[in-house]
Amino acid sequence: MTTETVPAFDQLNLNEHILKALNDVGYEKPSPIQAETIPLLLEGRDVLGQAQTGTGKTAAFALPLISNLDLKEKDPQVLVLAPTRELAIQVAEAFQTYAKHMKGFHVLPVYGGADSRAQVRALDRGVHVVVGTPGRVMDHIRRGKLRLSNLKALVLDEADEMLRMGFIDDVEWILDQTPDDRQIALFSATMPSQIRRIATKYLNNPEQVTIKMKTQTASTIRQRFWPVSGVHKLDALTRILEAEEFDAMIIFVRTKTATTELADKLEARGYATAPLSGDIQQNQRERTIQSLKNGKLDIIVATDVAARGLDVPRISHVVNYDVPHDTESYVHRIGRTGRAGREGDAILFVAPREKRMLSAIERMTNQKIERMELPSTEMINDQRIVKFKQKITDTLASEEIGMFRQMVEQYQDEHNVPAIEIAAVLALLMQGETPFLLSNKPVKSKARDAWDNADSSRGNRRDSRNSRDRDRSPRDRSSRDRSPRERTPRDNSPPDAGMMRYRLEVGYNHDVKPGNIVGAIANEGNIDSKYIGRINIDENFTTVDLPNDLSRDVITTLRKARVAGRPMNISPEGQVKRDDKEGAPARRQRDSSRKERTVERSNEKEKTKEKTKDKLKLKKKVKKVKKKVRTNRPAPRPGSKKED
Ligand code: ADP
Ligand code: MG
Repeated sequence: MTTETVPAFDQLNLNEHILKALNDVGYEKPSPIQAETIPLLLEGRDVLGQAQTGTGKTAAFALPLISNLDLKEKDPQVLVLAPTRELAIQVAEAFQTYAKHMKGFHVLPVYGGADSRAQVRALDRGVHVVVGTPGRVMDHIRRGKLRLSNLKALVLDEADEMLRMGFIDDVEWILDQTPDDRQIALFSATMPSQIRRIATKYLNNPEQVTIKMKTQTASTIRQRFWPVSGVHKLDALTRILEAEEFDAMIIFVRTKTATTELADKLEARGYATAPLSGDIQQNQRERTIQSLKNGKLDIIVATDVAARGLDVPRISHVVNYDVPHDTESYVHRIGRTGRAGREGDAILFVAPREKRMLSAIERMTNQKIERMELPSTEMINDQRIVKFKQKITDTLASEEIGMFRQMVEQYQDEHNVPAIEIAAVLALLMQGETPFLLSNKPVKSKARDAWDNADSSRGNRRDSRNSRDRDRSPRDRSSRDRSPRERTPRDNSPPDAGMMRYRLEVGYNHDVKPGNIVGAIANEGNIDSKYIGRINIDENFTTVDLPNDLSRDVITTLRKARVAGRPMNISPEGQVKRDDKEGAPARRQRDSSRKERTVERSNEKEKTKEKTKDKLKLKKKVKKVKKKVRTNRPAPRPGSKKED
């Protein structure tokens, strides 16, 4: 359907109350998926809808289903299943908005973590629409509180995500509890085989609506990547924050711990930031999203799951601080900006060894992602000076400076110090220990080379996360046909942020394959395979990167778990204690990890040195200013002597 042929909302047979509400929210015309889906659902047809995020799927099912409601009936007529609490709330809010002129309309979100009794009371009073996460919906059905005998329609929203989160059995169970003649709408951004199977089994002669990825979202989103090299990701991020004009920003990291760590660091740098992850209490999460909406917060650091489907129009920037696990997640992540045709910016940090993910994303979105240069030191410093001056201008108007003016005047008279000197001292005091300007450290060219040389095959390899590790066939590399020296060198780069390296006491010699390891860790430790990072298999041992916040219980379970018929004996790398039966390879490994530790330590030394230097500089500066104040020398003319 081209833009010209899209009918207006009032040509779609929706009831007048809904048209009025649409007018209130200011939707001009239906989005493509709405234009195709609304007539079908109004007719009572089953629909299998595939469209990327941000295409307006909620209204596509909510509008016709509301229009078909009989408000006099008390038992739920529509049930929507959504993968997360946030989405359930968001969808329920959308229903409320679209039905706001329909007297007596009731929608109820139900999800885990919220008071079940309140939900039951609301169900008893009678609701027309229930929107919930599968687990809690199941609970209410089992306890007889959610009666489905009157159900007219069931919606599965973001079905692929429900599958990914392991809800698919629950969803099927719920489907089995619904009356045979109910209508079903299934929406999914992708159509994995399990979703297709459900569609075939439960949908009745469905009409399939596919909105092609004609990058409807992407065209309004400017996509850039920064090749991680030279400076730390945190420093890079800080520069970007200083130089980019942004309204609100969402930053994606891989682990829950990383959300709080990074949020703390940004908060310390003066940005109104909060973390968002499954670990955070439900009501706190809702407050966080509310604060982002109303501008109390400007930055949210989130995991994929927690931010799924978030719809906050203020979000102007999405930063992929850690690369996404797959191309799908990337599309979902950047879909948090550029909502409903607005413009947005997406920035992706890509380390050399993650280059392949970049090409995979480019292939999938059929779009080149432009390489960005980090804002230069000069640019940042210019910005800081501009902002410094602006702060003065803004504060000049404030009434509160009166009292301080008096004190400064007094000081000027008592000490015979010109006001300009006093102002400079005050600015210095205000700045504190952090240097005002960035120093111009050259970008290490080695790191840059590493980026440019890393896997030049952008675009022609298989796209799979960690494919380099997972696709590796251990047999090809068994010690039987290669000497250890010939083997591809171990990737000794440190684990990504939020990850930690563990050692397992099984290796090639035990015929272990990456798949066995992923399987064992995922199943025994109940860890989603997407959180399992780099795997390096050696002769007698293996290292694997796992989230650094695994609980003691998980580690204990994993330690006992077996892989390739042997206990994997997992332990944090570098803390291995065992009788050295393996001989040389084990020693080699210890040596190499010792080397790593030494490198780390010397890096730390380097950092402390720099800090001390900075402190000394600052002390000198303060002394100088104090001296100047005491001796009442005039300030040096610009150009006569460099101050910094
Ligand atoms: P999806 O579920 O496909 O990711 P949503 O239903 O969350 O997308 O809608 C994305 C955004 O677009 C929301 O902010 C919604 O209010 C807005 N929107 C939906 N339909 C329209 C429309 N016809 N015109 C303008 N904005 C719309
Ligand atoms: Mg949606």
